[in-house]
Parts: sequence; structure tokens; C-alpha cells
Amino acid sequence: MAAACIFCKIIKGEIPSMKIFESEKTLAFLDIGPLSRGHSLIIPKYHGAKLHDIPDDQLHEVLSVTKKIAIAQGIENYNVLQNNGRIAHQLVDHVHFHLIPKPNETEGLGVGWPNK
Ligand code: IMP
Repeated sequence: MAAACIFCKIIKGEIPSMKIFESEKTLAFLDIGPLSRGHSLIIPKYHGAKLHDIPDDQLHEVLSVTKKIAIAQGIENYNVLQNNGRIAHQLVDHVHFHLIPKPNETEGLGVGWPNK
């Protein structure tokens, strides 16, 4: 855990979130600035800024949870994104996977990404 990390604060319940899934290692919640309805973030509870900072077992579960949320929500068209570093448009330095439903041509990942 990192004291100043906004996602660590969400894990600890210090900042409210709309939780979708929680286990010992993983948390999923709705993105506060959704690109489409149901845009969610899936994060390891282990704090690390970038993908290479995260132990494999944590990463495996995060990806597995991402898949299961897509299946459970019946999402057929979607993007899974994970940004590393400012130049790559990472704003929050706690690894997170975006699950962005793409229900139609206009909703979801579009020309606005990543400058939303
Ligand atoms: P990044 O550009 O991949 O780092 O994306 C960070 C994401 O975190 C953005 O889509 C934000 O909307 C989202 N975000 C930032 N703060 C919060 C929060 O407090 N709750 C939920 N989502 C957040």
C-alpha cells in the first residue's frame, strides 16, 4: 500500500467507489469518468505503478477477473487497456486495467481517447 495512492485509498475504503468485484488480491470498480456505460477498472491490491512492478500471480488474477466481468455482464464488444507512464497517458500510478464496453459505434473508446 502507498499512503498517497488514490487507488490504495479506494482499496482501504478511505475513498468511496462503486465496487463490482473484490477478492483477497483484486478489486474492480466503476471508472469515475466513464468512456461508456459500465467502464470499469480492475486492479491488483498489491501497489505497483507499472505492469513490470506487479507479481505474476496478482496479474494473472486481474486478467482473469477482467474476463469474468465481461462474461458476467454479457459484454460482447469491448476494449481492455492498460497504460504505463505519463507519455503513455497513465494518470494514476497504481496498475489498472480498463474494461471499456463498446455497445455501439458511438459509445466507448473513440477519438477522444486518451485525451478525455
Ligand atoms: P489512466 O489514464 O490509465 O491512468 O486512467 C486512470 C483512470 O482512473 C481514469 O479513467 C480516471 O477516470 C480513473 N479514476 C481516477 N480517480 C478515480 C476514482 O476515484 N474512482 C474511479 N476512477 C477513478
